[in-house]
Amino acid sequence: MGALLMGAPLLAVNDAHAAPPPQVRGSSPGYYRMMLGDFEVTALSDGTVTLPMDKLLTNITAAQLKTQLARTGLDPSHVEGSINAYLIHTGEHLVLVDAGAGKALDPNASGRLLNSLRAAGYRPEDIDAVLLTHVHVDHHSGLTVDGKAVFPNAVVYVEKNEADFWLDASNEKTVAEELRAGFAQAAASFAPYLAANKVKKFTGSTELFPGVRSIAVPGHSPGHSFYAIESKGQQMQFWGDLVHVKDVQFRSPGVTIKFDLDAAAAARQRLKAMNDAAAKGYYVGAAHISFPGIGRVLADGKAFTWLPVNYSVAGLKP
Ligand SMILES: [Zn+2]
Repeated sequence: MGALLMGAPLLAVNDAHAAPPPQVRGSSPGYYRMMLGDFEVTALSDGTVTLPMDKLLTNITAAQLKTQLARTGLDPSHVEGSINAYLIHTGEHLVLVDAGAGKALDPNASGRLLNSLRAAGYRPEDIDAVLLTHVHVDHHSGLTVDGKAVFPNAVVYVEKNEADFWLDASNEKTVAEELRAGFAQAAASFAPYLAANKVKKFTGSTELFPGVRSIAVPGHSPGHSFYAIESKGQQMQFWGDLVHVKDVQFRSPGVTIKFDLDAAAAARQRLKAMNDAAAKGYYVGAAHISFPGIGRVLADGKAFTWLPVNYSVAGLKP
């Protein structure tokens, strides 16, 4: 080989290969797909958000937090959490659970939902329903960008108490400082859908489509909702913000966060939901657990363990 190259006029080519292009950095998980009975479920990545959990988590000491996060090598002052949305093709409907952060957070880290959606083979105009787990910026701001409805053919479903709370700016003084900008953002997100009469407020736990229902879990926010889907006896629940820090809250479900409107209620809902998921064994999709945020819950003594799905190219068939 060496002999063949010697003396060959390859200098220019060799120079071109001397240095590769700059490192690209960053990751783009895009989408993850699985079947649930006859329903196709696609986890869509909107990116991530990095938060100072040492300043945000409550009901835990600084030392406890440090110890718990050290097990997974995370620094409490910079915990990078995923922002996941979920697309469900029921055969009759194409339903999106949560809409990502749009331009509300760091554009270098989040607001990637549409890229993920297109990579997954669908267009924004294909979606006929967006179900919001709650009205926090990282779940609804992707509905509307620069005043335009991103999902022009979709009806936005949101629990009535949730919508009424966040669309009334006089409630601003009742929430943590970190959440106050959410009122103006909510008004902007909902505006084109309200103008087109495409916001549907439902109350509590209710069936929205065949095989798709909401479950009322107030606590984190006034009308925080899970969505449960069921096809051919298989069940999956989408948990919204039941868990913010997987490496802490499965072990200690009583740990809360400043974003909770009613922290005690949020902790009760977490314990109840984890017990139910562990007892029944259904799949869970969670907005802030590392992408794709799909897994199952195992009982582990007095606490719980998160069991992420196995990666599958063909599409997991549980
Ligand atoms: Zn939230």
